Amino acid sequence: MFDVKKIREEFPILNQQIYGKPLVYLDNGATAQKPKSVIEIIDVLHNKLNANIHRGVHYLSEQCTEQYEQARGRICRFLNAASPREIVFTSGTTASINLVAYSYGQLSINQGDNVIVSEMEHHADIVSWQLVCAMRGAELRVLPFEDDGRLAVEKLPQLMDERTKIVCVTQASNVLGTTPDLKYVINVAHSAGVPVLVDGAQGVVHGGVDVRELDCDFYVFSGHKLYGPTGIGVLYAKEKWLEQMPPFMGGGDMVKTVTFAHTDYAELPLKFEAGTSNYIGAIGLGEAVNFLQGLDMTSVAEHENRLLQLATEKLSTIDGLRIYGNCPNKCAIVSFTVEGTHPYDLGMIMDKMGVAVRTGTHCAEPIMTHYGLTGMIRASFAMYNTEDEIGTLYDSVVKAVSMLR
Ligand code: PLP
Repeated sequence: MFDVKKIREEFPILNQQIYGKPLVYLDNGATAQKPKSVIEIIDVLHNKLNANIHRGVHYLSEQCTEQYEQARGRICRFLNAASPREIVFTSGTTASINLVAYSYGQLSINQGDNVIVSEMEHHADIVSWQLVCAMRGAELRVLPFEDDGRLAVEKLPQLMDERTKIVCVTQASNVLGTTPDLKYVINVAHSAGVPVLVDGAQGVVHGGVDVRELDCDFYVFSGHKLYGPTGIGVLYAKEKWLEQMPPFMGGGDMVKTVTFAHTDYAELPLKFEAGTSNYIGAIGLGEAVNFLQGLDMTSVAEHENRLLQLATEKLSTIDGLRIYGNCPNKCAIVSFTVEGTHPYDLGMIMDKMGVAVRTGTHCAEPIMTHYGLTGMIRASFAMYNTEDEIGTLYDSVVKAVSMLR
């Protein structure tokens, strides 16, 4: 049996009261809490080991550099990438997508080309491409989803043509929980020679990924949603792309030699890591991955699925409550509205009962537009949530609705 009590002991923040009520943290899709081992390593780094990486010959700099590169190796194995050369540290998913959009865009996207994104993407995977399309004179095309939250992947072949330059799809929708059929998307795109970017911001924490098995070209995620620190993220890219793509930013650490006439870039992946990177965050993320690899991830996934099912069953009994996204294999996210109430009002009353949920558009406004809404409430579950907390979630919605109606 999965021992949730033991897991909770690793997350000190959970043991507190909010407005006199035990904290029920159900905003994990926005950011996950950190285990002690991650908090401790960041503390040790700041207290004892801090020095800039790749620059000094002194002890502290060498220690930090070694731990930074070890963290890269750990993430490489976690994703099953072919080589650490394919792992670029960024500040998060948003930065990773922008890096690909600008750099791959400069390499491959020209006037009259098109880029395909799904209708259920986070703004990070829409706006970055919109900017690059505007800059390069390309068209942004949209792969739609059905009302039940299923991504209509079968429409991809007719959306693509010989001018399609990249297809960008989420591994898991941060609103609908949908986990699209990525294998199908990648097969269709690759059969036309088109690369695929997978946004793993939500997917990586619910089941992980094997990038070689999936055969995606780019995979991006943020440390803070994977029980790691904020301000650190990862871009995985096949080496063949990173070799061809121009640097996104120029500066220190990404160069071999510089003259006013010419610059030779550093080897991969440093070519894409200009300036002082968030090396403490990267080492913290390596520790978060270490923490996850020490757990039985199958039982974690089963536990999260039990929470999802229980929440879905209980919330569905509330009069006027509608859940958005009902696909099989969805990840542990429940987004809903309740007739006659505004999501912000509901969320604020729930907060007073200690229940932290997300309200609003969830940075996925096209999904709201699809359903003709201005916002939803989202409860997103993590390994440390309990069945009792689902009970509190239910009670808080019932109470808030009765007050508002
Ligand atoms: N993509 C998805 C699916 C997300 O859920 C998020 C954050 O919620 C992002 C991208 C952006 O992540 P970040 O803000 O960490 O860059």
